[in-house]
Formats: sequence, structure tokens, C-alpha cells
Amino acid sequence: MELNGEREEDNYSEGDEEDQESEPCPCLFCKSEQSSAAATLDHCREEHLVDLPRIATQLHYDHYSCIKLINYIRKQVCCS
Ligand SMILES: [Zn+2]
Repeated sequence: MELNGEREEDNYSEGDEEDQESEPCPCLFCKSEQSSAAATLDHCREEHLVDLPRIATQLHYDHYSCIKLINYIRKQVCCS
């Protein structure tokens, strides 16, 4: 049973990318950084002609999964 409580400390585990949408997100293809993952998607489409949401749609990803995809790719690209 889960209520909408305020307990958040237990939710943070490694590899769990729940709340990334509002964080600054570097572009996957250049050094620029956008204010959010969604903005980075727009940037990629306009600057690099890579329409990730469209690709995601073809893969039947929803918007949220797409952002998780971005974060995943980002981790592969910038080996932090
Ligand atoms: Zn870029």
C-alpha cells in the first residue's frame, strides 16, 4: 500500500533516474547545455537535426522514457 506521503529519502537508489527533467542537461552532440532534458531535445532537433522524440515515437517510447533515454545516452557519452 502506498499513499502519497512525503517520504523521499528511501526513493533514492543508484541508477534510478526519476527526477531529471528539470535539471540542466548537456547536449549529446556538442558542449552546450540546456535548462532541461526537454530543451536539449529541442536543441538536438534544431542544431543537429536529430529528432529524438520522433525516434522515440518510432520505438514506442513515451516522452518520459525518452528523457530517460537521453540521460542514459548522456552517461555513455560523458564518462563522469
Ligand atoms: Zn548540441
